[in-house]
Amino acid sequence: MNVDSGRVVGRFAPSPTGPLHFGSIVAAVGSCLAARSAGGRWLLRIEDVDAPRAVPGAAEGIVRTLARFGFEWDGPVVWQSRRTAAYRDAFERLRAAGQVFGCACTRREMADSALARDGTRRYPGTCREGLPAGREARAWRLRVAPGAVRFDDAVQAPVAEDVAADVGDFVLLRADGLFAYQLAVVVDDAEAGVTEVVRGADLLDSTPRQILLQRLLGYPTPRYAHLPVAGNAAGEKLSKQTLARAVDDARPQQVLVDALSFLGQAPPDGLAEAELDALWAWARAHWSMARVPRCRLVPALRYG
Ligand code: GLU
Repeated sequence: MNVDSGRVVGRFAPSPTGPLHFGSIVAAVGSCLAARSAGGRWLLRIEDVDAPRAVPGAAEGIVRTLARFGFEWDGPVVWQSRRTAAYRDAFERLRAAGQVFGCACTRREMADSALARDGTRRYPGTCREGLPAGREARAWRLRVAPGAVRFDDAVQAPVAEDVAADVGDFVLLRADGLFAYQLAVVVDDAEAGVTEVVRGADLLDSTPRQILLQRLLGYPTPRYAHLPVAGNAAGEKLSKQTLARAVDDARPQQVLVDALSFLGQAPPDGLAEAELDALWAWARAHWSMARVPRCRLVPALRYG
């Protein structure tokens, strides 16, 4: 992924919905090493744009855990909850260009529409040509043009998705007045000059939407690498919903070595007993994206 080492910028962007679990450490390790091994910068952004889902204290806990694990990010931590003005600017640009429309549909009214790949409802286009008489806009959606969005991923097979057919016009400004994750992440990555998005494969299905937004806003599209997510014995992604355990701050070396193994990096015996600095030096020197397993989910039974 090292195209121009002076300009590589990566980032880790956790949502503060709970403490870091093994799957989040894997994304942090992969994104950090991809950037650092290329001599690049690595940024930390707390994705608390979805304020109702943020758990009080979780963000501070994440930052503390990352520091204990020896992660070093460049510059101050960016908080999405403080960036509403930037999201509004981007939204207004799209609106001025006629790319956005108001939508009155409630979740219940959409309950019958088809499911998109990520399990959300495909928008049937009800308000696209104007609001039904007597109804008011609740949310604001992007007018999505038909046609496949394609991209190559450094880990996964090439992706092509017709967002209009699969997802439909998606929400940019939600009924509760908050900007949607899809818009926030695109604005944040562009403003920070992110060149490499390395994150979990659970976000692969969001990427075509994000590429569409980048194109409409005139932003460059970064390179993508979607790492396998860590799964439990039932084949489910480790997450708060599957009751994934928080990583043990007291044993960072063991967790980091397990994350390196998970990512196919074959850490040598004894690395878990090394000092953190030495462990990171080995990881930076030996990182290879080509060794990451080319699948969407890998079991991590010790952590499930
Ligand atoms: N905030 C997202 C998560 O924690 C990651 C988004 C991203 O890396 O683009 O799953």
